[in-house]
Amino acid sequence: MPTPFVSKRAPVYADVPDEKWNDWRWQLSHRLNAAEEIEKVLPLTESERKALNTSGLFRVDITPYFISLIDPDDPEDPIRKQVIPLAEEMQSFTAMMEDSLAEDRHSPVPGLVHRYPDRVLMLVTTQCASYCRYCTRSRIVGDPGQTFNRQEFEMQIEYLKRTPQVRDVLLSGGDPLVLAPKILEELLSRLREIPHIEIIRIGSRVPVFMPMRITQELCDTLAKYHPFWLNIHVNHSNEISLELEQACDRLTRAGIPLGNQSVLLAGVNDNVHIQRKLVQDLVRIRVRPYYLYQCDLVEGAGHFRTPVAKGIEIMEGLRGHTSGYAVPQYIVDAPGGGGKIPVAPNYLLSMSDHKVVLRNYEGYVTTYEEPIDYLPGDAAKFKGEKRPEPGQSGIHGLLDGEQMFIKPEGFDEIHGRNGIQHRLKDEKKWQPLGIGAGAPSHEAPKDLPPQPPTGEGDAPQSNDEE
Ligand code: SF4
Repeated sequence: MPTPFVSKRAPVYADVPDEKWNDWRWQLSHRLNAAEEIEKVLPLTESERKALNTSGLFRVDITPYFISLIDPDDPEDPIRKQVIPLAEEMQSFTAMMEDSLAEDRHSPVPGLVHRYPDRVLMLVTTQCASYCRYCTRSRIVGDPGQTFNRQEFEMQIEYLKRTPQVRDVLLSGGDPLVLAPKILEELLSRLREIPHIEIIRIGSRVPVFMPMRITQELCDTLAKYHPFWLNIHVNHSNEISLELEQACDRLTRAGIPLGNQSVLLAGVNDNVHIQRKLVQDLVRIRVRPYYLYQCDLVEGAGHFRTPVAKGIEIMEGLRGHTSGYAVPQYIVDAPGGGGKIPVAPNYLLSMSDHKVVLRNYEGYVTTYEEPIDYLPGDAAKFKGEKRPEPGQSGIHGLLDGEQMFIKPEGFDEIHGRNGIQHRLKDEKKWQPLGIGAGAPSHEAPKDLPPQPPTGEGDAPQSNDEE
């Protein structure tokens, strides 16, 4: 029998009646934020006291439930570091930015980030149950003055209605599960009225900060909007309590698939054994580890950052060492707004024209003999209509025959060297036969060999539409 998850309550809350303790509204209204309040639960260090008494730092608020999970005698406690500020937060660092993922730049309307072809991130509130010191969105989160108003919400809905390529909406913020139940339901029902939206997701740390919010009533509401998915955010096994286990059980019984996003944080979980226990404990409560993020380059988060090599080391210690579905993807979210980039150890050692050399997690080196006569048959061709990815088909577009190259911005101008348009410069010279906007194959000169297949599908698509 694995060790059961436990329930904790700091001694200062011993006299709080259970019905209050288990009421999420009581938890929200009794959050701690001042040094004097926190010191009733645990003794503060000099650095923490200094940060708590500094004005202008990212908002502090901690639910009584979550602070109870901290070992009061351990200044290095991994939960403590996530929610109690340190003086190091005030230190700036190279490459620090206010909006390191350029989310606001990729927002066609306020609070709607449309970064990828078929999905959007919809920010619906700036409020959370507690506040993480490394928050990527600290530029707006915690500030009630930045909260999205009704007019902006309507703009988000209107954008979604007129953008049929969006099939997946991820609600975040802030934390959508702190919204008043009526507002949350209105939001979900308005999204469900849009026919092309196939799935709705929520990213929430409420189950972790305040599992008492995951009532049966809430689960029943969410289940009305299936297919509905939920990602929680746990960084360390100490956050997995009996209450979180029960909340996840209610959610999964309502048919909601659960994933976990964690952030690689120095002093919290930058150790392969801590990470292995975390992912194994998550699987025990039926939560699939989804992403492990490299810490973003945001203000206040400098002391949490690790080298990317630490993430690679952790992934090396997970893949093969534990169940495949317990292994998250390690992600560097590209500074400047390039989106999520998966990073992993290299398992492909070498290759020839018909053989690849691979290694496994133990260092066992093997070869995979490839077929030498492979050509995709008709059955492997996609006969339906491809979903458009206007302007964003990227490397896959190269493989799919849409175009032959991707040029950095200004490439043609630089290589034009301010020269003149002369008789040797004829655009047709650089149109590759049978690829993208190149001459169709029926115009191929008779003496050319037949063209190789361009991948799935019918005629290669032009990328001209955007
Ligand atoms: S719960 Fe999410 S949005 Fe809220 S402070 Fe933490 S990381 Fe930021």
